[in-house]
Amino acid sequence: MTLPEYRILRSRRRTLSLEITPAGEVLIRAPLRLSNAAIRAFAASKGDWIARHLALREERKAAASDQPRLSAGEAEALRERAKELFPRRAAHYAPLLGVDYGRITVRGQHSRWGSCSAKGNLNFNFLLLLAPPEVLDYVVVHELCHRKEMNHSPRFWTLVESQVPDWRSCRAWLREHGQSLMDRLPEKSGSE
Ligand SMILES: [Zn+2]
Repeated sequence: MTLPEYRILRSRRRTLSLEITPAGEVLIRAPLRLSNAAIRAFAASKGDWIARHLALREERKAAASDQPRLSAGEAEALRERAKELFPRRAAHYAPLLGVDYGRITVRGQHSRWGSCSAKGNLNFNFLLLLAPPEVLDYVVVHELCHRKEMNHSPRFWTLVESQVPDWRSCRAWLREHGQSLMDRLPEKSGSE
């Protein structure tokens, strides 16, 4: 199997990590002193993952552009599904993270994917149902992690990573496709 090109970014870290950047570049983060051979072996072991994600990325790019706006009925149907799905995903991840939470609301929003109030009430954008499932889960985990860390510190991201090792690609996906997704809300967006 031929390995796609990858870039190595060395830093004072202990572990290897792999991500596909928004530009579609394969990036391997590595400890300062790890040998190139070890990094190559790591990349080779992740060859299938890399190939799958690069292919998915192309598919999604094609699918995400030029989508029509949702009709009011479609938006309502999404919201109904979201009201079921977000509580289920939150209930799945909260015990794994050792956190609790209050009420969950879903809205169609032009500016945010989720939020977590000081009281622990969670709000999610139902447009996430149109994103890949791992991206939706990433947003749920992200907001739940704010129950422990009300910031985006390294500790926060470590916590996110404990449940979503691939969070960087999820965040990159939202950066790349988020706007076109939000542009799909009906003209008069249905907020709760
Ligand atoms: Zn946050």
